[in-house]
Amino acid sequence: PAARLAGIPPTVFAEMSALALRTGSVNLGQGFPDVDGPASVVAAAARAMEDGANQYAPGWGVPALREAVARHQQRHYGITLDPTTEVAVTTGATEAVAAAVLGLVDPGDEVVVLEPYYDSYTAMIQMAGGMRRPVTLRAPDFRLDVDELRAAVGPRTRYVLLNSPHNPTGTVLTRTELEAVAAVAVEHDLVVITDEVYEHLVFTGHEHVPISTLPGMAERTLTISSVGKSWSFTGWKVGWATGPAALVGALVSAKQWLTFTSGAPLQPAVAWALDEESDFPRLLAADLEGRRDLLCAGLARTGLDVRVPEGTYFAVTDTRALGWPDARSFCAALPERAGVVAIPMAFFYDDEDASRHLVRWTFCKRTEVLEDALARLAGAD
Ligand code: PMP
Ligand code: GLN
Repeated sequence: PAARLAGIPPTVFAEMSALALRTGSVNLGQGFPDVDGPASVVAAAARAMEDGANQYAPGWGVPALREAVARHQQRHYGITLDPTTEVAVTTGATEAVAAAVLGLVDPGDEVVVLEPYYDSYTAMIQMAGGMRRPVTLRAPDFRLDVDELRAAVGPRTRYVLLNSPHNPTGTVLTRTELEAVAAVAVEHDLVVITDEVYEHLVFTGHEHVPISTLPGMAERTLTISSVGKSWSFTGWKVGWATGPAALVGALVSAKQWLTFTSGAPLQPAVAWALDEESDFPRLLAADLEGRRDLLCAGLARTGLDVRVPEGTYFAVTDTRALGWPDARSFCAALPERAGVVAIPMAFFYDDEDASRHLVRWTFCKRTEVLEDALARLAGAD
């Protein structure tokens, strides 16, 4: 492989899902739901195929979806966008992140990024020749340390790559925390790329605030989301980016050489999801909250220290309370001991000390699957 890939490990998600299959374990590793999103959205995709939406879509995305994304941002956040210049469709949030980084980050540019990192961020920053500057969210609370954020910004810093609600910690940054990020961004003239794929998966007592809605931020924020999490269509890989025309345009400049355009028949179906199934994410979040509580209580009963997440579909535990100082060996032994797969958080951190004892578990599985996993864990030696 090329030098630009040096040291980037294979994605942990594929590895852990293969391990679950191989060992017949319950897979609480990779985050994908085991119930699909609304049938009416599937029907809309089938209809689009039958109606002939089977050739290349426009590079920026089909107008119906760009307009639906603009309406979504207006409806939920009061954000007004021009769908012709300020919205682009991508092949999942993954491509949006890749194209944003490749389209914006120059070699040597520093990107401030929350650690633990979603794994594609570090890979893409490295592939672009950028440098990551971590701001570490630490157990047990995983809050943003504003002093650490300020200290991470230097003369070569040009971007903040933000993610809230945050995978893998389940932290939802508060308005106050986001205001601190915004103040730093404005003071140092930074562009914020914000991955908000879990925007609707937020639990009682917490609120998702898009950083682009804070004063001074609309003109310097590129916001990314996708249909995967909020509508339970992770396999569709349809995402979008919104923001100032110059930022979205830079993303599209890179995207045209990555995929050129994204899947044509899925786009009208995602437009349908955003407009006609707009209640689905709220109902999903309410349902997920019950499963969060089920998993967290069950994990606590096995003796793990559990951090109850504010959003996303991931919960983090500390394995030291169970006598496992090293979560990698805990997770390596788990398929054999209990028939369950979970992910060591060290995969998402550079900082070994901050992560050695932490494990991420997903609860986007049916209740009976979670109950099965918990019964297995309770019976483990
Ligand atoms: N960002 C984060 C934080 C995620 O958790 C995920 C999904 N695992 C993605 C991006 C990728 O989203 P998509 O499937 O739409 O590419
Ligand atoms: N986002 C999901 C997770 O964090 C999986 C994404 C992937 O498989 N790349 O588990």
